[in-house]
Amino acid sequence: MGLYVILMGIQGAGKGLQAKRIQESYGIPQVSTGDLFRAMRTRTDDLARKVQQIMASGQLVDDDTTNAIVADRLSQTDAQNGVILDGYPRNQAQAAFLEFHLAEKGAHVNAVLLLELDLFTAFKRAFGRVSAADGSSYNYYYNAKGVNFDWEQAPSSDFPPRLTATLAVSGESLKRRADDASADAVIKRIDTYLEATQPLINYFDARGIVKRIDADQSIDAVWADIQLALDD
Ligand code: AMP
Repeated sequence: MGLYVILMGIQGAGKGLQAKRIQESYGIPQVSTGDLFRAMRTRTDDLARKVQQIMASGQLVDDDTTNAIVADRLSQTDAQNGVILDGYPRNQAQAAFLEFHLAEKGAHVNAVLLLELDLFTAFKRAFGRVSAADGSSYNYYYNAKGVNFDWEQAPSSDFPPRLTATLAVSGESLKRRADDASADAVIKRIDTYLEATQPLINYFDARGIVKRIDADQSIDAVWADIQLALDD
């Protein structure tokens, strides 16, 4: 049957990080549609190029492409005992597809973990985050120690300046996700979440499987709440 868990929450709620912990502790892989789409960056075909453009604008990739990439991932050997879905489904059509697809395998969504975070914090977590090559991450607003932040004027003065960051000790230039780098794209993603994804909470609430978790706590405190919810 397997364990199928959906991690829901606005950008910056910590879905990716917590999904990795669930993966390690419960032995089911994280399936992040954002990561699957980002992995297409090295491809040069039309579909891959279109996906990168859509991501950079903060909009959603079309449902057919998204559902197909998920169905393919769920068919792989390591996903046969379940998965943690991170960033999927993001609208009603994707949720309906997922339920239908799992029903065909004789499975269903066991739990929806909803990481709740206020919008202002969500904006700061996404817009301010940078990461180093070794995977460690920092944030302009919350975790800036050891990092030199700067603002660089965008080529078009129509846009706000961009945030740049380097590690003080090594001078390593820190990376931002392309879709975090523009304030406009971050705001667009928050809008899309409110319009398309948030209504899914009612959809899954009707099935009694939504577990609400306060995401405005330390990473460890959120993790403790997730374990309680899953063991339940
Ligand atoms: P994420 O890493 O989950 O924030 O996703 C980054 C971007 O990938 C999103 O802003 C969308 O452009 C695209 N994306 C990720 N998941 C989905 C999805 N379920 N449906 C449509 N687009 C998605």
